[in-house]
This record gives sequence, structure tokens and C-alpha cells, in this order.
Amino acid sequence: MEHPELRPRPPSPLQEVRDERFGRHGVRLLLKRDDLVHPELPGNKWRKLAPNLRAALEAGHGTLVTFGGAYSNHLRATAAAGRLLGMGTVGIVRGDELAGRPLNASLARCAADGMRLHFVARSDYRRKAEPEVLARLVGGAGAEGAYVVPEGGSNALALHGCAELGRELRGAAEVVAVACGTGGTLAGLAAGLGPGQKALGVPVLAGGFLGAEIRSLQAAAFGGRAGEWSLAEGYDHGGYARVPAPLEAFAADFEQRHALPVERIYVAKLLWALTDLTASGAFPRGSTVTAVVTGRP
Ligand SMILES: *Cc1c(COP(=O)(O)O)cnc(C)c1O
Repeated sequence: MEHPELRPRPPSPLQEVRDERFGRHGVRLLLKRDDLVHPELPGNKWRKLAPNLRAALEAGHGTLVTFGGAYSNHLRATAAAGRLLGMGTVGIVRGDELAGRPLNASLARCAADGMRLHFVARSDYRRKAEPEVLARLVGGAGAEGAYVVPEGGSNALALHGCAELGRELRGAAEVVAVACGTGGTLAGLAAGLGPGQKALGVPVLAGGFLGAEIRSLQAAAFGGRAGEWSLAEGYDHGGYARVPAPLEAFAADFEQRHALPVERIYVAKLLWALTDLTASGAFPRGSTVTAVVTGRP
């Protein structure tokens, strides 16, 4: 029997936003409120975790083990999912120097949701894709036999969960834009969109390696390139979790105008990028652009 928490959820709301920064260029802006898809697990984290939770339960696993930094939204979502489903969770956290210190608010939430935290050296954490290193880290955390969810939650099952987000948006816009960390959400979303629709990713980390990551994630999940997608580079604002004053001001102003709580690490950079691209004429007059609101502050 499927766990009630894992039953399919209704599509998240799609809202039109009236904003002259788009209107004056003849562009319609819609917000896909995926932050509302689940009451406790926002947006893409739910889309990515749900198929993994299903697979873990079907295979008889009682515990999930996953990876993240000290501020990881993915760790928090995994901890909350474990609580909801009655599964154990183990979080392998980057940075063994954190072990003796008080937990920050994000890790404290993980712990309160029942996640056992295990801090590891950054040098090991970086090499966790190597099978021997992975086995050693999981063993060291006392999580042998647990279901392993990769960092950021982006694996083939996660992409299938995010393809559902794309299917919910068929016919809704020419362009569907999403902020990218690992790129898993974009990779799945693109696969679910209909003909003539394009997915546009806005990387929040500098680096330029994301295109290759997305191609390999899509190859693993769908056997090759799936759907139309591209990346809009240059909107990382200095790197992951950096929120310089102009971006902060932009996000606060957007909240005021549209009564939307704007998550700063991803969603603010997405909305900034769409405003800038619209101003520079990147979207033809008469087109509709949908921004996926992947999370909340
Ligand atoms: C994790 C996260 C993302 C990035 O998703 P990826 O699939 O890793 O690209 C985007 N937005 C929010 C709010 C997130 O928490």
C-alpha cells in the first residue's frame, strides 16, 4: 500500500503577475507557485524526493542517507520527509570543523525533524562520487544499507518527478524558467514540457559546468537529450548564497509589489534574470514567460 503522503498531489497554482517591467515589452509573466505544492516540503525538493521515497519504501528501506552543506535546503527537505513518512534520516554534512559547534538554524531544523547529522572532511565530501569514498562515508555515518539520495537530490528518479512539473505547464507559456543549483529540476522540467515550449535555466553558481551536468542527468533518466532547454549565464551575483545589496533591494521590492515571499538564494536570481532579459528584448512581444517559484524564504 502506498503511503498517504506519497499520493499524487494536485497541480500547484499558476498565477499571472502584472508588472510594467514586463508589460511594456509585451511580455506576460506567470508564476508557477511550486512553493505551494506541499505544505511542509516546498517545490522542487518535493518533486525530486517523492519518487525516491516511493522507491525506498518499495525496496524495504527504513532509512535515507543524503548529503549537503550546512545551509542545504535539500537536507532540510529530506529530514522533513523522513519525519512525515516515519523513516530514519542521516545527513552527511560537508565540513568536519562544524562537528563541535552549535548547529545553525538550518541544521537545527534537520535535527529537530529527527535527522542524525554526521560531519565529514571537505576533502572526503568532494570525492563522494567515488564508490569507495561513498561506502566509507556511509559506513562511517552508521548508515550501511540505507537508501542513498545524492547531494541536491538529483538522480534519474528525481528527474522523472520534475518532468511532472513540466507536464503541468504544457501549453501555459513559450518559455518556462527555473533557477538551477544541480540542474536536476531544469533537466526534468524540460523533458515534461510540450512541443514548442522551452525551458530556461538560471544558474545560481558561477562555473559554466552545468550544461554538461544536465546532459548527463538527462542521459541517465531519459536515455539522451530530452526537450528544449538552455541556460542564461551571468546571473549568479557573485556565487552561491551571495545576495549583494542590489539583489536584496530587487527581491524586497518584488515582494512589496506582488505579495510574493521571494526566496533569496534561487528565486530572487531567477526573477532578476527574467526582468533583465525582458528589458534587453530577449523575449518577443506577445510571448508568455512562466517563472517557477521553486521555494519560499
Ligand atoms: C534546491 C533548489 C533549487 C535548485 O534545484 P536543482 O534541481 O538542484 O537545480 C532551486 N530553487 C530552490 C528554492 C531550491 O531549494
